[in-house]
Amino acid sequence: EQNCIKKPNYNSPPKLQSPYKNALGSKKSSVEQERRALPVYHCRQRILKELEANDTLLIMGETGSGKTTQIPQFLLQAGYANSGIIGITQPRRVAAITIAKRVAQELASTVGDTVGYTVRFEDTTTERTRIRYLTDGILLREAIADRLLRRYTAIMLDEAHERTVNADVLFGIVKEAQQERRKHKLTKLKLIITSATMDIDHFGKYFNVKGMYLEGRTHPVRVLHAKETQEDYIHAALVTLFDIHRHEPINHDVLIFLTGQEEIEALAQQIRQLARINNSGPSDVRVFTLYAQLAQGKQLECFLPVPANTRKIVLATNIAETSITIPGIRCVIDCGFVKEKSFNPSSGLDLLKTVRISQAQAWQRSGRAGRDAPGVCYRTYTKATMEKFRSAAQPEILRANLTATVLQLLALGIDCASFDFIDAPQPEGVQSAHLALEQLGAIKSAVAPSITTTGRWMAQFPLDPRYAKLLLAAPTYGCMEEMLSLVAALSSDNVFIGHTDKSELAALAHAKFHSKHGDHLTLLNVFSTFQKTEKPKIWCHDNFLNIRNLNYARNVRNQLAEISARLNLAFNSCGDNTDAVKKCLLTGLFDNIALLQKEGHYLTLSGRVKAKIHPSSVLHGKYKPQCILFTEMVQTEHNFLRQVTEICIDWIEEVVPSIKCVLK
Ligand code: ADP
Ligand code: MG
Repeated sequence: EQNCIKKPNYNSPPKLQSPYKNALGSKKSSVEQERRALPVYHCRQRILKELEANDTLLIMGETGSGKTTQIPQFLLQAGYANSGIIGITQPRRVAAITIAKRVAQELASTVGDTVGYTVRFEDTTTERTRIRYLTDGILLREAIADRLLRRYTAIMLDEAHERTVNADVLFGIVKEAQQERRKHKLTKLKLIITSATMDIDHFGKYFNVKGMYLEGRTHPVRVLHAKETQEDYIHAALVTLFDIHRHEPINHDVLIFLTGQEEIEALAQQIRQLARINNSGPSDVRVFTLYAQLAQGKQLECFLPVPANTRKIVLATNIAETSITIPGIRCVIDCGFVKEKSFNPSSGLDLLKTVRISQAQAWQRSGRAGRDAPGVCYRTYTKATMEKFRSAAQPEILRANLTATVLQLLALGIDCASFDFIDAPQPEGVQSAHLALEQLGAIKSAVAPSITTTGRWMAQFPLDPRYAKLLLAAPTYGCMEEMLSLVAALSSDNVFIGHTDKSELAALAHAKFHSKHGDHLTLLNVFSTFQKTEKPKIWCHDNFLNIRNLNYARNVRNQLAEISARLNLAFNSCGDNTDAVKKCLLTGLFDNIALLQKEGHYLTLSGRVKAKIHPSSVLHGKYKPQCILFTEMVQTEHNFLRQVTEICIDWIEEVVPSIKCVLK
């Protein structure tokens, strides 16, 4: 065998006889036929009748049954959008975008016409738009302007099982909006809560309605567990994939669940290379990737049919678990991990870490193999391991940093303590949010929280309050222009292109922008030079920079500048005075400071967490500064501090006297 990699052992040989050979051979059928074949299509009358009789519906149906794409169209045809619009929330922006594009296509229209989407920093809707896909964060911001959400006649809160903080808050907001509108005899607000796996009793009690099940249509999926624990799940996935590739019919497409962009791109590269080595002729696999930061043009590619005698291989994050259904998948490889953001109220630090999925997620993932025909799911973990998984993921509100949410609620005039949550957040979480908001100057007192003008202004920005604070503080430090650029660049995904065969050349090109102060000023150098370039395309190509992300940052900057101008903030610039930028960074990111220890590692000031500088940092491996500020902490085998800048320890007292910290 070409790839002499150790084979993971499954509890049953991965053999599948295929009576369905060629069943998916011709993947072409008209969009209309596809729509009619969806399970939800047969429930159209029932859904509309129920909605006529009830103001709120809970609908549960298998992933891929057509809830997200079809139900809004049913409502549109039934006239629900005659005096307002239909809004559908999604926890993820990729889902909002791809689904809006799909529905526009189904209606033989284009995005921005009848169907549009709105995600942070990007709004494609127009006055003609009747069906609007949006992230739950966006709808929450809209509630600040109009708590009754009057422009909507119907709102579908989709993927309710995800239980993001924003969705949880929205449940309360829409419920209240519905009641208030009823009370004031305004246009009714119809609510539809949909999900693949929701806890219908819990939701039913909260909304005081009965649930409705859509009969799904799924095929049996054979689930195989690894016999032994696999130390390297990526390697295990690779071996399993080539095993499938050798033994399964070529038209059985494969979906591999991994945790994030870097892992996905690296494995995709490896698969393509191995496929090339194993093939003398043209490659018989097509590898697609799907994750949140993927370039927009590429997001829909995995839906495209592949030529006959070619296997489609899709590498995805948990986006493909329930949000997005790719047709044709017959084999799933599940690594059993997911990236999760969690917050430690005692240290005040956010942490991005890779954790085990829940059992519910494991079943969702395996289910993706049985949408079109019987399939098989390979779990690269043992059965015993799976039995130790949590049964369902914990609602995010119980583990997330609530600073942004609490501020938004206060801007809405809502005190967390009295809000009708489906599951109330932990008091420590709320307390620590109050404390952070007090330190940021957004509220007067953490004990009896009342929002300040600064707080109201902060809530105007579609940013984490800490970043909003940077912009509000910038005029005082004389670095508004710089801070607008920096916050915009920080809001975008990685602008540096690294994963190429030419990574040495890339490193060389990137070195030109390096600032000895650290990553923030390096990023600022890149963005400022980009802003001045006349031929951005060539320039980005030559410098191994991601033009899409830089364009995005430019767009974000314009929007932030617009809001700042509305608030009459002074647009000053500090030129080469980098200290101004660094001090200003401290006004918002004062919780993200770490000090060098004798042993050579860093210790965060709040929480005293041991960590290292991330290898991607320009300060990595060089001399180690005594005191650093970082953007975020990621946990893999160590705690790593990403995006680091050297600061002067004395500035802490000067800039944020309110934090009483012991510095030694
Ligand atoms: P649900 O919300 O119930 O999970 P969806 O409405 O998202 O289901 O999907 C219904 C069907 O539409 C699925 O079979 C899916 O494969 C298909 N579909 C969704 N988006 C696209 C697309 N961009 N191209 C082709 N098919 C798509
Ligand atoms: Mg859906």
